[in-house]
Amino acid sequence: MTSPPSIVTRFAPSPNGHLHLGHAFSAIYAHDMAKRADGEFLLRIEDIDGPRSRPEFADEFRRDLEWLGLEWRDVAPQSQRLDSYEAMAGQLVDMGMVYPCTCTRAEIAGLKDRRGADGLVYAGSCRGLPLDPDRPAALRLDIDRAMETLGELIWTDEEAGSVIADPRELGDVVLVRKDLPASYHLAATIDDAADGITTVTRGTDLFSSTHVHRILQELLELPVPHWHHHPVLLDDDGQKLAKRRGSPSLKDRRESGEDGLSLAEQLRMQHMQSGT
Ligand code: GLU
Ligand code: ZN
Repeated sequence: MTSPPSIVTRFAPSPNGHLHLGHAFSAIYAHDMAKRADGEFLLRIEDIDGPRSRPEFADEFRRDLEWLGLEWRDVAPQSQRLDSYEAMAGQLVDMGMVYPCTCTRAEIAGLKDRRGADGLVYAGSCRGLPLDPDRPAALRLDIDRAMETLGELIWTDEEAGSVIADPRELGDVVLVRKDLPASYHLAATIDDAADGITTVTRGTDLFSSTHVHRILQELLELPVPHWHHHPVLLDDDGQKLAKRRGSPSLKDRRESGEDGLSLAEQLRMQHMQSGT
């Protein structure tokens, strides 16, 4: 019997648009970390966001990664894992850790809740509402209840060191959407465990999400990986690279004949020079 690889990392893009330089950087980062340790690098397509997800994008992602010279193993896309999300959400319901939220977007925006790391934090106005199977609603995590039950939790970021989980930064996040059996937080946490991810790598823009994921792991008795939050690649003006700001996609670069291997090398160099 062969022993499992020491390090398993993943790149988990959502197929709702083309990949950009920032994604290439994230993918290379996760890939190289696994390969250096003779580990495994996985590609997971996070495609539960119904109408916004399109399979053509996922096909392009594979061409992009190949062009960058990366090797990976495909694991099941999120759209094939809905049963496991439902089962875990059911556990959280049984534990009394979630409550239905019937607020509309406009209502939430009008509540003038405090601002958190990722924008508005929901004030918890639906806390205590009973679950009603006849009335479809999003389910939110009752953060205070979870924290009281679990006590202090620690997680480890390879750069930041030991971090005390402080999920109040994000507030009572949605775990089950009204139209979907999971939100990003629930799905990604369950999948990372199912895929045997030992080291979750992603941009520092998702640092605050990790507090919530750590809580979910504890509630659902899932293994706890290590995290590496890497700097988000910025453009020359210090702005986050994004399609809406007109930076060319990897597909554009690939189709214009640019050499993907040398682009990958440049991104590696840039990272080393940034000292992280
Ligand atoms: N699908 C998420 C994204 O594209 C993945 C984030 C993560 O790595 O956890 O932002
Ligand atoms: Zn509500």
